[in-house]
Amino acid sequence: MAWAGRLLGHNRFIPLLTLVLLSFPVGYLTVLCHELGHGLVGLAQGSPFTGIFLGVNLAYALVNNSPLVSVGGWIGQYALAAGVGLASWKAKPRSFTARSLVFIVVLENLVGPPFAIASLKGDSGNLQLMTSPPLSGGLVVAALEGTAAALFIIGSYFAIGVAQNYFRHVFPWITERRAWYLALFAIAFVAVEGTIGYQLSGTGPLLLSICFVLVFTLIPARPDLDSISTTLPSRTTFAITLLVFVLVEAITYLVLPITIPL
Ligand SMILES: [Zn+2]
Repeated sequence: MAWAGRLLGHNRFIPLLTLVLLSFPVGYLTVLCHELGHGLVGLAQGSPFTGIFLGVNLAYALVNNSPLVSVGGWIGQYALAAGVGLASWKAKPRSFTARSLVFIVVLENLVGPPFAIASLKGDSGNLQLMTSPPLSGGLVVAALEGTAAALFIIGSYFAIGVAQNYFRHVFPWITERRAWYLALFAIAFVAVEGTIGYQLSGTGPLLLSICFVLVFTLIPARPDLDSISTTLPSRTTFAITLLVFVLVEAITYLVLPITIPL
């Protein structure tokens, strides 16, 4: 089956597919930390936090809203990125799965929030509504956009480092420059996803196809050299990831919406 492996670009296609499949369960982790962030800030302000509503494309914390509670979701996401980033910096995971999980968590939660803030929708829209009467509307928008830009620059700085490191370790036969291009591309992908949203039935598959083609042009096939040590996913890793993905999708479409009581 060597021809099939060559046709699929086995050493690129399977890792990339595994990475994409892993991003779905991580998406739920992000949502839960985001909602916990809202809830815990609410609790700190003395509001009861009774649970988290989880729908297919919608989630919210059952807590009284306030400007600070609106910000809490992003605080939850940054806390997740910082926690996972620091843990990986200390533990230095070597496996493909652990590296990929760190990469997705850090990228999603460092690059995602600035785009949510800049969108002036959802939490950002709520924040605008709640703070506009005492301040002038234009000032609030300027403050939100300025904050988003600053957070994007700081978040990207760390995310590029993490992404570059990730690509260099998973595909050790690519050049530093290509790893840097891939890191920029990964950030752009999260940015687009954060701006227009990922829809499985809409732009999602198109975005993913473009992503695969672009990444395939940036990552050449693995040279047949035994000296290259790498941590590409094993068949078992791929099978488990696929199983987890199917399970997560089954929960999404069969179990949701649910309210997790606290
Ligand atoms: Zn939120």
